[in-house]
Amino acid sequence: MGLALKFINRTKGGVHPPGSKGYTEEKPIREIEASSTIFMPMRQHIGTQCVPSVKKGDQVYAGTVIGDSDAYVSVPIHSSVSGKVIQVAPHVHPALGDVLSVLIENDSRYEIDPSLQPPGKWENMDADEIRQKIRDAGIVGMGGAVFPTHVKLNPPREFPIDTVILNGVECEPYLTSDYRLMLEQPEVLLEGLRIIMRAVGAAKGVIAIEDNKPEAIKKIQQVASGSGIRVSSIKTRYPQGAEKILIKSLLQRKVPEGGLPMQVGVVVDNVGTAHAVANYFSTGMPLIKRVVTVTGSPISDPSNLMVPLGTTFADAIEACGGFKEEPAKVVMGGPMMGLTQYTLEVPVIKSTSGILALSTGEAKYSVPTEPVCIRCARCVDACPMGLNPSYLAAYAYHEKWEELERLRIADCMECGCCTYACPTKNPIVQLVKMGKAETARRKERSDRTVAELDAIKKEGGNGTGE
Ligand code: SF4
Ligand code: SF4
Repeated sequence: MGLALKFINRTKGGVHPPGSKGYTEEKPIREIEASSTIFMPMRQHIGTQCVPSVKKGDQVYAGTVIGDSDAYVSVPIHSSVSGKVIQVAPHVHPALGDVLSVLIENDSRYEIDPSLQPPGKWENMDADEIRQKIRDAGIVGMGGAVFPTHVKLNPPREFPIDTVILNGVECEPYLTSDYRLMLEQPEVLLEGLRIIMRAVGAAKGVIAIEDNKPEAIKKIQQVASGSGIRVSSIKTRYPQGAEKILIKSLLQRKVPEGGLPMQVGVVVDNVGTAHAVANYFSTGMPLIKRVVTVTGSPISDPSNLMVPLGTTFADAIEACGGFKEEPAKVVMGGPMMGLTQYTLEVPVIKSTSGILALSTGEAKYSVPTEPVCIRCARCVDACPMGLNPSYLAAYAYHEKWEELERLRIADCMECGCCTYACPTKNPIVQLVKMGKAETARRKERSDRTVAELDAIKKEGGNGTGE
């Protein structure tokens, strides 16, 4: 029988930002039309960018592969509409600047690619087959991480998986897309969880939901009843949905520093990912649309929308009645981890969980040029990873890369709790992100140098280039 357990969250750190979910939590998911021209970036996942497999003038259909890669850590990209390819060229991306994109003129017929077929019963497939199908469907982590799901579901043999956690925590303020999926399609999510459990050979499945979503807990409990799948209510606290925090709260297992959940026998997937997996196995339709919460006080009719990928932010906002007041800021995602946009011509991509517009009063965090620290240690108390954010920010500002490594900057999950807690509004997370990227680049360079030196030694050289 599905069993709900209450856990007192003893995890260190975290903050309580206002939830602000009231704008959309009662709004059922509604389908919208794609833009008249859709923009499909060839990079919508972590890993190798896709190469376009179509050219100008080609006819495509909903579900046609328009880009792919031979690399293992990559997934294909599919058209979300039927129509003609009008251009293959760089176009602005919501996270990465200009990215090579396929532009498709939408004929508004949404004809499905005739080659698409439901993949067959997953119950009759082995784990390799399931993973291959998930790759073919272009599925990535839908909680924002966009890591290819087939890779996540294929851990090395030395890390057997016993538990899959389905993450329905959705602790980012304002966002309610996962909440609506749990309320409206609980059976689909459970089916997705079962498929994922089979792909990794896990015997246990847990669905984690924050205790500020009692309706979702009730609904999922009803559907999970008798299935052996556990429904766990988690104490509300940001960033409770972060993988490592969730594993600690639910299973009392600690992922090693710099490590991954598989090292403690766990895979964590977002409810949106489970939805995409189950949807593909029942219909054969790859990942071409996703639920997006369009919200914030400047939006006329904040809503949860099922949006065809490649639709512009401008058109998604228009489907919500447009702006009733000029926003000061528009963000992809939520206010804690979201990315500020400078144009609304960016497309909805696989990682777009929300489009958040903030008024001048709400977008009050200005970015000072130099951090001003009063040594209050609030950021230290707030950091769920046990880091010292004030030092990380200061060292990043002064480009002390070795110090950053010594202070475990790679463990930062970019949750933004430190910035939220800081009374002087230091841009801590922005500086830490910058420091993290630079130390990762330096590490990659030094790993390459070591590999090159090893290769020279193997060839009998002395490593000096002589
Ligand atoms: S240092 Fe990183 S993990 Fe710690 S609170 Fe700041 S953003 Fe979150
Ligand atoms: S919260 Fe801000 S002011 Fe306080 S120690 Fe951290 S960086 Fe300094």
